Amino acid sequence: MYDLAVLGGGVVGCFAALRAAELGLRTILVEARSIFGGASPRSAGVFTVQLDSPLDVELVNQSIELVKKYSKEAWRETGFLQIGREDALEESIESIRRCGINYEVLNDEEIMRRWPIFIVESELIGVYTKHDLSVEPKVLGRELRAALLESGVEVAEEVIVTGLKTDSSEIEAVNLSSGLSLSADYYILALGPWTREILLSSFKDVEVESFILTCFAFRIDTGRDLDIPSFSDEYLHTYWRPWGTTLVGGRYDAEFSAKPDVSDAEPPSKFYRTSLKLLRRRLKLDSRAELVEHMRGPCSFTNDGMPVFGPLSGLKNAFIIEGLGGYGLMRGPALGYRAAEALALNRELTEFKHHSPTRILRPKRRKNDV
Ligand SMILES: Cc1cc2nc3c(=O)[nH]c(=O)nc-3n(C[C@H](O)[C@H](O)[C@H](O)COP(=O)(O)OP(=O)(O)OC[C@H]3O[C@@H](n4cnc5c(N)ncnc54)[C@H](O)[C@@H]3O)c2cc1C
Repeated sequence: MYDLAVLGGGVVGCFAALRAAELGLRTILVEARSIFGGASPRSAGVFTVQLDSPLDVELVNQSIELVKKYSKEAWRETGFLQIGREDALEESIESIRRCGINYEVLNDEEIMRRWPIFIVESELIGVYTKHDLSVEPKVLGRELRAALLESGVEVAEEVIVTGLKTDSSEIEAVNLSSGLSLSADYYILALGPWTREILLSSFKDVEVESFILTCFAFRIDTGRDLDIPSFSDEYLHTYWRPWGTTLVGGRYDAEFSAKPDVSDAEPPSKFYRTSLKLLRRRLKLDSRAELVEHMRGPCSFTNDGMPVFGPLSGLKNAFIIEGLGGYGLMRGPALGYRAAEALALNRELTEFKHHSPTRILRPKRRKNDV
């Protein structure tokens, strides 16, 4: 019998299990593939505090500290430059200001003087924050796997959760692909874009109001060392982070998907062509710039755009974290950590009062309902 079963070994599940083990809980982590087998390794790896809500700023700030704590190789402190019209950046400036984060506002000429590779139109400004990270997700996954094993978490890979066995007030056990079932005092559902499937197969009378987009990112080798910050471009709708001679990112492009897509099939070439064209508008690149890797993976979204974070309605021993959209790698470490603390330390979640799973679970409508 375990104190805690964490279902899903993406960024959220790994940090939840690590924190639970630190707090003395006997913890098992169940992952259908291998650790970091879902959306997390396919992420572009941008971490920035320049987000529109103060809670998100706080979460990313904590995630940065956590990544630094558990990883040596997966991150570089590149800083982050958000480029856009002044009015488009107002909300995120207000959020970082309220959270006490230091920032600089630079005009077009100041940006080009500091990083001569940039090309910036005169009507744009840049907001620069110094401590944001560029993260290599696959390297992070390997380091977290080692940390989990060292911390005493039991890691069950290639084991699929096939359903939740519930009574009227709690999860009694989870059914596994091996035919066995697993029991714990508490469960954290960190299944990312697969959460929908488990909820729908386990509760016949509910509808789940979340949706999945397949997102794309690219790694471009520029042929030269890049001493620039990670940046997002509200004007051209692109984002990039430097890693050695490469840039990882792309245009904010995505397609609706009925199910999570983790195939490594090539993205439609129009997405890459547009991303590269926009990158060339913003940076002086020479003919050496070439595509060396593409990423394709599922992101799950809620209708109101906010993550799901909290106890599952009616089931007192289950906690659910999902709907992190395209910003889950940077918020996931803090959310996983805080979920484990909420369960182990009985911590109040007042700051998450708008994030309850009840928002996305609705009783199924019968045919005759209007
Ligand atoms: C192309 C792309 C670019 C992105 N760029 C960024 C970025 O720059 N910055 C950022 O912050 N975010 C980015 N994201 C979003 C980020 O990747 C996700 O929000 C985040 O990884 C979600 O983490 P998670 O732990 O919730 O889900 P996942 O990493 O998907 O973890 C869920 C895990 O559950 C496992 N699982 C599924 N079903 C079962 C089952 N039945 N039984 C057991 N295990 C199961 C899966 O194998 C998976 O490992 C990007 C995503 C994509 C696709």
